[in-house]
Amino acid sequence: MTRRGGFPTAPFDKYVRAAAGAVILLALVVLAGWGSGLRGLQTVFPGSVPMKPNAAVALTLAAVSLWMQRAGPPEGWRRHVAYACALLVLTIGALTLAEHLFDADIGLDQLLFKETHPIGSAVPGRMPPPPALSCVAIGCALLLLDTAASRWAVQPLILFSGLMGLTVLVGYSYDQSDLYRLGFYIQMAVPAAVAILVLSIAIALARPDHGMMVLLTSPGPGGLMARRLLLPAILLPFMLGWLHLIGEHRGLYDNRFGTALFTISNVVVFAILVGWNATVLQRTDEKRVQAEAAVRHSEERFRLLVDGAKDYAIFMLDASGRITTWNAGAERMKGYSAAEVIGAHFSRFYVTADVARGLPEVELQTAARDGRLEAEGWRVRKDGSQFWANAVITALRDADGGLLGFAKITRDMTDRKRAEDELKHAAKELARSNAELEQFAYVASHDLQEPLRAVAGCVDLLQRRYAGQLDARADEFITHARDGAARMRDLINDLLAYSRVSTHASTLAPIDCNVALSDAMANLTVAIRESGARVTTDRLPTVIADRTQITQLLQNLLGNAIKFRATRAPEIHVGVERNSGEWRFSVRDNGIGIDSQYSERIFKVFQRLHTRREYPGTGIGLAICKKIVERHGGRIWVTAQPDAGSTFHFTIPDRRAA
Ligand code: ADP
Repeated sequence: MTRRGGFPTAPFDKYVRAAAGAVILLALVVLAGWGSGLRGLQTVFPGSVPMKPNAAVALTLAAVSLWMQRAGPPEGWRRHVAYACALLVLTIGALTLAEHLFDADIGLDQLLFKETHPIGSAVPGRMPPPPALSCVAIGCALLLLDTAASRWAVQPLILFSGLMGLTVLVGYSYDQSDLYRLGFYIQMAVPAAVAILVLSIAIALARPDHGMMVLLTSPGPGGLMARRLLLPAILLPFMLGWLHLIGEHRGLYDNRFGTALFTISNVVVFAILVGWNATVLQRTDEKRVQAEAAVRHSEERFRLLVDGAKDYAIFMLDASGRITTWNAGAERMKGYSAAEVIGAHFSRFYVTADVARGLPEVELQTAARDGRLEAEGWRVRKDGSQFWANAVITALRDADGGLLGFAKITRDMTDRKRAEDELKHAAKELARSNAELEQFAYVASHDLQEPLRAVAGCVDLLQRRYAGQLDARADEFITHARDGAARMRDLINDLLAYSRVSTHASTLAPIDCNVALSDAMANLTVAIRESGARVTTDRLPTVIADRTQITQLLQNLLGNAIKFRATRAPEIHVGVERNSGEWRFSVRDNGIGIDSQYSERIFKVFQRLHTRREYPGTGIGLAICKKIVERHGGRIWVTAQPDAGSTFHFTIPDRRAA
């Protein structure tokens, strides 16, 4: 049973309310009868004597008191009303009894209505002793409902009043006036008996956690049996007795035979009832045994599974973090046997610094709050060595949400952690040596320019002054030396340009690509004119980029498109389209094309597909393009076929859209 505000919620509340309401209605009908003088309303049930006004008032007050107390001890004004009503019920009952006992009239009987010709009582308006006694019992029960005495006092009291009401009703049903009549005059009314019986049952239902009601309302087999048998046990003898009387009345048999018949039919009916109930109980029990076996079986399989998991430490903690189970994997991973750790606090697996900052407690609190926690960290084995653990802590709760404890699954991830650390270290090392190399390339190429200039100058002088004066071989040597120096200059310049992409980069800013393209074309004016190239272009966007580098990128790609032309005049198109958060540019030509097997290689430094005699160049142009595009967070690739032209694509993220 769930509890609310410290008191049991009332599972039979609607029945209690219905009962109290019905009693109030019944009593009001009777009082209306007295007020109007209509006999039919005073008796309610045909054949009954009228219910006395005092009884109607007392039972109304009892119903009001029960209404106030129906869902636990009342508080505030409800408490006052409940106890005042109960006290009045008790007083009316007790005073009436005193009147009967001492044959005195204290004016209580005719207080509300005058009865000129008493029916059912010797004194006008006086409530008979049985309902008066019932009022005393019900009044006491309502006063004691939530006191220490309630456990032993309330149920006997309402059992007494209930039986009193039942006896009268049976008397009326069997036409046995001895059961509802006292002497010649005093006769108890049917509505009073009904109201007393209903109230007695309702008081019992209002406190289902008291006395016999606990068994009656329990979900176990005892409660089930009690609930199933109670009504038949009351109704069946009642009906059999009634049939017995009718038979006798019609002269079908005499009293002895009738009694024998009644006994036999009772025995048979109850034997059937017991047999049926026993069968149902038996079946329920068999199902329970089967269910228990299934649970045992599944627990056993689960245990085998947990024990079999050698690479995982699987164990349970109670709500405070003490270890309650330990599997073979845990023993293998942490080095403790089950006997050593069960009952110990799980913080012993944490490194001292983590324990000092309260990490184990924080992890349990987080798991309890979120239901689950996954964490990684260094943990300590029994021998003091450490391992990198990945642990999942799951909070275990009962059906009502109460925290039972935690399940913890730990995996040893030391190898992965080491590999990750090594990878991180290697990546850092690589970045550092790359930067160093770039710096070196820049410094070296920059410093090489100076002596090269001196060599080239001397060779120039040599050629100008001594050409034709020495022999033919000397002229040839001088020409070779001049070409070599020129080539060296180109290489150094390109190398410098390559290293400058990262060492001399300026910050990214919005640039108009149309302007960058015109600058690139202006730098290529001579080549465009000489080759007769025709360059067409889409309307290009504004992107966040380094303007000098984008100009260089376009210049390199256009320059290659012109340089690697076929016999026809170059036709070049610079296109662009927007594609999921990035701009995709393309530079398409109708030149000699590229075999697809080289489409990756050409972006590497010094990689060329032709001799310098066929096409001049150093093999750095596309490497520079790649570096520029990657610095902007994009990609570059080529789609081409031999003799069918090439298209170079590159992307620049559309940062303004992001
Ligand atoms: P370079 O132009 O100095 O040779 P690049 O790095 O610019 O060096 O180009 C590398 C190689 O890629 C070139 O030697 C050439 O074989 C090929 N290539 C580049 N652009 C084109 C193009 N538009 N058409 C055909 N081949 C090209």
